[in-house]
Amino acid sequence: MGGNLGDVAATLHGAEAQLAAHPQIRVKACSRRYRTTPVGADAGTPFLNSAVEIATDLEPLALLDYVQAVENGFGRVRTVHWGPRTLDIDLLFAVPAVIQSTPRLTLPHPHLWYRRFVLEPLSDIAGDELIAPYGHPVNHFMALWRTNWRVGVFASTACASQNAIVRAAAERFPDRRIAPWTPGQPRPELLAAIGDATGIKPLFLLLPEDVATATQALVDAITAAEDTPVPI
Ligand code: ADP
Ligand code: MG
Repeated sequence: MGGNLGDVAATLHGAEAQLAAHPQIRVKACSRRYRTTPVGADAGTPFLNSAVEIATDLEPLALLDYVQAVENGFGRVRTVHWGPRTLDIDLLFAVPAVIQSTPRLTLPHPHLWYRRFVLEPLSDIAGDELIAPYGHPVNHFMALWRTNWRVGVFASTACASQNAIVRAAAERFPDRRIAPWTPGQPRPELLAAIGDATGIKPLFLLLPEDVATATQALVDAITAAEDTPVPI
């Protein structure tokens, strides 16, 4: 859960209470709250983020319906995609594993593995929990982004945009090792792909074709992986 508009601490508290109020949801654990860096060109001021562990017999889509109703109840207005928001609730992963990839719901959440604003709260309550399709627990990813990690950009067919994206990202993060990547080279911790990414699954960041949008997506990912959330 996260937000950056209004009294977010009160909103997170209220959202936890609304999860607990559902007859088919049991709240098992709540993380600390963290102040985190906003991600995205229009994201606004710093966020507060937290994570909640629940037990439920709701189907994944029914749970998504409910958390979206909770978001709406806290005045979330969907205007700017990834813009400032009073409350965002995402479903991260399930045990036993639920693997789903539909327009309404992707599980595990496709970006959780590199977003420190997700990982830090998650590790408070589920650090040793294995994220089945990835074969690693939450804490593995926590540790990854505390190393001197590298960024690679893969393109299925050599294209000018690969170098353009690398150059633009390197300009924004001059101290980070950011380079084009080809299979056979040591795999960088954060691997982004343009076009067909068959063969480099599971953990990579799929970039859109358009150079400007792709650059922003990569900058956002690096920002999220570089963040050092502060518990409050
Ligand atoms: P974001 O969370 O990316 O900032 P939204 O909260 O507006 O943006 O989510 C956009 C859509 O993402 C939702 O309408 C929802 O259907 C979809 N979605 C896909 N997978 C998930 C997930 N694991 N958790 C939450 N929403 C998801
Ligand atoms: Mg969301």
